[in-house]
Amino acid sequence: MGLGIESSLGDSILTTKLDAAVNWGRSYSLWPMAFGTACCGIEFMAVAASRYDVSRFGAEVVRFSPRQADLLIVAGTISYKQAPILKKIYEQMCEPKWVISMGACACSGGFYDNYATVQGIDQIIPVDEYVAGCPPRPEAVLDAIMRIQEKAKNESIIKDRVKEYKGFLDA
Ligand code: SF4
Repeated sequence: MGLGIESSLGDSILTTKLDAAVNWGRSYSLWPMAFGTACCGIEFMAVAASRYDVSRFGAEVVRFSPRQADLLIVAGTISYKQAPILKKIYEQMCEPKWVISMGACACSGGFYDNYATVQGIDQIIPVDEYVAGCPPRPEAVLDAIMRIQEKAKNESIIKDRVKEYKGFLDA
C-alpha cells in the first residue's frame, strides 16, 4: 500500500527518515573550533588552508566561540593549568558535539611526561577520534574529520549524549 502512495506522488517527493536527513546535514556542515596550544595548532592551519582545503568536507567555518561549534579539535600540549579551561569549553558546546585529539601531546602528553602536563585529554573530556603524530599530517586530520562525519551520520538525533558525558565524569 505504501508503495502505491509513493508512486502516486511522482518524482518530486523524497521520503526518508528524520535521523538520516538531520544527520546528513550535520555531517557535511561541521563547525570546528580549534583549541590550539602548541605546534599542532600551526599544523591545523595547514588543514584549513587552500592546499588541504578542509572546506571540501564542509568543515571550513572555524569558530572561536564554543557555543557556535560542534567539533572541538584539541591541537597541542595541555597543561594542568589549562585543563579546567578545556573542560569548560567542552561543556559550553551544544549537543551534538564531537572531539578530535590531534597529535601525541593531546592524546597522551607526548614527550612531556612531567608534573605540568595532562597525559591525554581523555582524562578531562570524552574523545571521539585520536590522531597520532608529532605533528600529524594534515591528511591524518582530514581522515579523522571523515570518521567524525561517519559517526555523525549514524547517530540517533534523540540519543542522550549528555547522560553519556555524565557517565564519563562519574567513572
Ligand atoms: S604532538 Fe608534537 S607537534 Fe603536536 S604539539 Fe606536541 S610536540 Fe608539538
